[in-house]
Amino acid sequence: MVINALIAASLALTSTTAPATAQATVDCSRVKCLALTFDDGPGEHTPTLLKLLKKEGVKATFFLVGRQVVKHPEIAKRTLAEGHAIGNHTYSHASLPTRLDDEILEELKVNQEVIEKATGYRPTMYRPPYGSTDARVLNLANQVDLAEILWTGTTLDWSLKDAAKIKAAALKLAKRDGAILMHDTEPGTVKAMPEIIKELKKRGYHLVTVPTLLRGKGPAAGKSYFKR
Ligand SMILES: [Zn+2]
Repeated sequence: MVINALIAASLALTSTTAPATAQATVDCSRVKCLALTFDDGPGEHTPTLLKLLKKEGVKATFFLVGRQVVKHPEIAKRTLAEGHAIGNHTYSHASLPTRLDDEILEELKVNQEVIEKATGYRPTMYRPPYGSTDARVLNLANQVDLAEILWTGTTLDWSLKDAAKIKAAALKLAKRDGAILMHDTEPGTVKAMPEIIKELKKRGYHLVTVPTLLRGKGPAAGKSYFKR
């Protein structure tokens, strides 16, 4: 009886803590979807962003830098637990095409290990820092079983800094099936997010993760998405 009660309790717990499942029911071939993506974290502003996304019922995608994950493993774990998608953004934010094969593999592999250690999950996608990539880099990423995720628009939030300007840039880039690049390390971006989300919802967008946006047809290792 005690064991049955424990199983029932754990099942109840599972069903109330699975926001990712609800997200999977969004069919982006039927509704207007957009993916908000955040690079370079986790950092000190990430918890504020996570709190907002949770409140708004929005799922996003985070491309994590390994040396940041080492500093904030609990934030990386929380990001995944709250139903967001996470990907690899290299260990040290290296510009990959300038590196040797072994160095590129190292940047990707070490970060896979670091993220898996922090979250229990091994990413299936990566985003090259600065969007710098080529056929050699893509082939090496394939060896680490990673899909390459670029973007359809960048806010250049790291340069704009000002929340009002970042908001205007993000809204201008919004389009169906788009993937917008921002940084959770930028305080102006985190500050602008409540209004960005409010306006995007008003325009009818479902804000989803990159895998949801790809409608189950990816991410597939060795393939590049959102090529500009
Ligand atoms: Zn970056």
